[in-house]
Amino acid sequence: MGALAGRPALVVGGGIGGLTAALALARRGAAVTVLERAPRLDEVGAGIQISPNAAHVLDALGLSGPFRAASVDSPAVTLRDHRGGLVLRMDLAAARPGQDFRTIHRARLIALLSDAARASGVTIRLDSPVEEPPDVPLLIGADGLHSRLRAALNGAETPFFTRQAAWRALIPLEPGAQPGAQVFMGAGRHLVSYPLAGGLRNIVAVEERGSWTVEGWSLPDDPANLRRAFAGFGGPVPGWLEQVTRCAVWGLHRHPVAPRWHDDRRAILGDAAHPTLPFLAQGACMAIEDGWTLAACLDADADQPRALARYQALRRGRCARIVDAASANARNYHLDGARRLAAHALLRMAGRLAPGAVFGRFAWVYDFDPVAAAP
Ligand SMILES: Cc1cc2nc3c(=O)[nH]c(=O)nc-3n(C[C@H](O)[C@H](O)[C@H](O)COP(=O)(O)OP(=O)(O)OC[C@H]3O[C@@H](n4cnc5c(N)ncnc54)[C@H](O)[C@@H]3O)c2cc1C
Repeated sequence: MGALAGRPALVVGGGIGGLTAALALARRGAAVTVLERAPRLDEVGAGIQISPNAAHVLDALGLSGPFRAASVDSPAVTLRDHRGGLVLRMDLAAARPGQDFRTIHRARLIALLSDAARASGVTIRLDSPVEEPPDVPLLIGADGLHSRLRAALNGAETPFFTRQAAWRALIPLEPGAQPGAQVFMGAGRHLVSYPLAGGLRNIVAVEERGSWTVEGWSLPDDPANLRRAFAGFGGPVPGWLEQVTRCAVWGLHRHPVAPRWHDDRRAILGDAAHPTLPFLAQGACMAIEDGWTLAACLDADADQPRALARYQALRRGRCARIVDAASANARNYHLDGARRLAAHALLRMAGRLAPGAVFGRFAWVYDFDPVAAAP
């Protein structure tokens, strides 16, 4: 038995990060309670991409069967110009045969993590907002973007608006749909779409904007605004947007990666520690990696302050690098005029001459195995 056996742990937040941590802690013998402010776990959200780095954790937690059943294979990322013309196809399946690049509805991933957590003895209390972080021997803040625990450890911090707003929507999947993610890039805007299980297509559409007030996931918007913003796009985009009957819009803000992730009895993970822009599809993946690593560090060393310091040391550099890479992608997708033509020509050439090199730029993200790297 490791150092976690029989120890109590309180997790604030039942999102993907909190539930992964809760399950990993419980599997190592901790007595875990999760406090989640929402009355239900499966209310909102749309598609999430899960790459092999996070799939290693799901495997190690014994979830690869249910995960594969609830998700679909996403074997490539295809970059297109705004009219639908091919710029570059990054063939993930060829670059890393046998590895899991998949897409899943956020609610389905939450459901399979929470089922497994409950089956491992985790108590999940819904409708339980935590206003003041309680004084307990081990408290894990997995409370997302507006984390109270992050503020308690680091002081208040003001995120800045990135001048980008994103819509997300789900539509029925067309017959014979191309598998994998497609990115349509136009001046000041881009649209990403991929199939999900259950006959659904996920759409995330990002537009540069002057101003914004709220930061959150679920502000409803009129689909006509989305259609208007992408009226100049071609290929399958107009047909897809025609089918949107409901959509949500959110303002994309940048937060610095928290300098301090822990003290002697508290730690933060996931969006609470390192909120990211969605342009590398790694928000959920990083939260999953964090949850595993935190439990492994605590189990390997009975000296809790030292274990928590090791957790931050293992995670912060990687997460900060991913957050920076996601921000750089936003700039590259939205180029205008001559810069766009030049960049797309370069990508087309790279795709023809050295397709492996394009994947190679991101290999450090996908080839990382958090299970092997943890103690
Ligand atoms: C409602 C919602 C919808 C999302 N939709 C998408 C999507 O469509 N596509 C996508 O790629 N990503 C989506 N995300 C983000 C993605 O899930 C996260 O970036 C990623 O999974 C990191 O997870 P996390 O567990 O760190 O944080 P989150 O997923 O944000 O989870 C944090 C959890 O903590 C709870 N919480 C917050 N404050 C308190 C408190 N004071 N007391 C108790 N509980 C609290 C929240 O209700 C939430 O369940 C969504 C997140 C949320 C919350």
